[in-house]
Parts: sequence; C-alpha cells; structure tokens
Amino acid sequence: MQTLKPVLRQVRQSETLPDNGEHSCSLASNSATRTLHDMRRLVHRPRRLRRSAALRNLVRETHLNIHDFVLPLFVSGKLDERRPVASMPGVFQVPVKGVADEARRAQDVGLEAVLLFGIPEHKDEEASGAYAENGVIQEGLRAIKSKCPELVAITDVCLCEYMSHGHCGVTRIDGEHFHVLNDESVELLVKTALSHAAAGADIVAPSDMMDGRIGAIREALDASGFDQTGIMSYAAKFASVFYGPFREAAESPPQFGDRRSYQMDFANANEALREVALDIEEGADIVMIKPALPYLDIVWRVRERFGKPIAVYHVSGEYAMVKAAADKSLLDEHTAVIEIMTALKRAGADIIVTYWARELAKWLRE
Ligand SMILES: [Zn+2]
Repeated sequence: MQTLKPVLRQVRQSETLPDNGEHSCSLASNSATRTLHDMRRLVHRPRRLRRSAALRNLVRETHLNIHDFVLPLFVSGKLDERRPVASMPGVFQVPVKGVADEARRAQDVGLEAVLLFGIPEHKDEEASGAYAENGVIQEGLRAIKSKCPELVAITDVCLCEYMSHGHCGVTRIDGEHFHVLNDESVELLVKTALSHAAAGADIVAPSDMMDGRIGAIREALDASGFDQTGIMSYAAKFASVFYGPFREAAESPPQFGDRRSYQMDFANANEALREVALDIEEGADIVMIKPALPYLDIVWRVRERFGKPIAVYHVSGEYAMVKAAADKSLLDEHTAVIEIMTALKRAGADIIVTYWARELAKWLRE
C-alpha cells in the first residue's frame, strides 16, 4: 500500500499540467509509465480473492445455517382461524387448535425451534392467563409436543399479554405515578415458567426485565424436577421504538406510561454487560439481546466477554422497515435479509429469532 499514495499524487499532478506541447505530453506519459511500474510492485491485492463467486465462497467467514433460526408464533385464544397481523405482512396469529399444524409446517421446511407468544381470551390484573393450566401457551405446547415432539419449544415468559394494563409486571398507582413492582412480578413469572415447563416447554424465555427473575425461575424449576428445562433470558432488552408492530401482533400495548423503568436505556452498553453477567450468574443457559441490528456493538461485546450462547431477536419494527422498503421497490427483500442475518451472525449471534425464519429456510436450500 505504501506505493499507492505517491502514485496517486503523480497521477493528479499529470492531470493538472496544462497541455502546452510536446514537453507536457512526455511528462504525462512518463508518469503513466511510473504509475504502472509502481502498481506492479503492489504485493497485497485483496481483490484477488474476490474475482469469482467460487473464490468468494472459499474465503467467506460467516455462513448462515437453517439451524440458526427460531420462528416466533403468536397463539391466540380468541380466534378460530389464522388472522394476518396488518403491521407485519406475512405474520399471522394462529388459533390454539391450529398451532400444532403451524409448528409442523415450520418443522417441514427444516426449522428446529419455535418461540411461542400467547394472546389470552381474557386479561386481568393478576395476569392469571399466563400461568393457567389451560392457558393458551400451555394448551398450545401440549398440542405441539404431541405432534412434533422433536421440535424445540421455547416459550415467552412475560405478563404483558395477560395483564389488563399491558405492563410486564404487577403495577401500583400512586396518584400521578405508577410503579411496576419487581418482586411481586417475579412471583407470577416463576408461576408462569413452571406451568410452561409442566406443559412441555424445552426452554422458557423470560422477557420481562425484572431483577432477579432468572435465579428465582431456575431455583423453582429445579425444585419441581424440571432441571432439564433451559432458560433463554432476555438479558439485555432495550426500551425500543422498534417493538411497535409486535404490540399489535401480541395485543400487548401498555394502557398507560411506558416500559422505560424496567427495559434498558438504549444509550447504555456497560449496563447491558452487567445485565448479561447477572443473568448468567443466576443460571441463564442462553442470553438474548433485543432488538438486533441497532445493537451489534452489544452482541460483539457479549461475544467477547462471555462464553454462553447468544440469541438476538430481530424485532417487528426491523422486519416491517425492510418489508415497507421492499414494497416500494427501494431494495430487494431477499438480498437485504441475507445481509442483515449475516451481519447478526458475524457480530457473534448463535441464534436468531426472526419472522423470516420460514423464508430463510427456503432461500438457504435454493
Ligand atoms: Zn412483557
């Protein structure tokens, strides 16, 4: 590389010389000869390995694999038929009775894991649907496990879809202010995780961001004989605008306030590392970072520092943005998705939760 700069300078000089006869012509041609001569001495030419698709394949560092992807499924206790989610083209809510078929279709295209979210028929102030024995997730799990026992069933453990107010925990209102109570919420999350494990969940995935819930869930699972049920913790879940379309899919928007007192400030990276360290210490088997693409620095830092498997959740807003751009022919959806997924993996993700899981399974086979 050190020869390139003088060469470029020479070229620029020759370009700026006035064309006033033979002398300037020979100057220009001398410098062109020197340029070629100097270029020939270039030892490092990274472009050599980019000349053909076969060469590029040979040196590619990051490969996507169908087993990297987890498909989110929204199971509704209110529906009899699949219903499209308007804010997320291609995503559906499915009735409990249809979830096993949906899971089978995922397995048929080669996927090995699904992440279940529940939409109960009724919501209340205790989120009782979250831990009911005949709740939507519990029934959905039993149906999936009877039809696809090999499929890894991961369940979202949170209270927001089941609470009438839409917050991820138990709330208390003091005049103008509301509080989401930590330890009271953890008690209900533990009950929820236990009921999922009893219904056949392979992995429970607490997404609430209460303090200490991973330790409490691990302890309760072990005490109840579920020591093989894994925990995928949403360890660094940021309060993000990119969750917008999901709230329509999961019917879980908060009725008042926002989630910034429990989800993380998106400006903080060191705090994310502390959150991940705490969850690992408390017994998380997999740690998740959510959203995905705007947080690649966090993924990389967690990769560098911890030895645990890392999941990322490529969220609804990230999905909807690409869909909208593709819809306007501003970019090619397939190519954009492959680039995004590769970037997530390159940054250090082992597992990617994505609404494109089915399409990716197809694209990667082609
Ligand atoms: Zn929640």
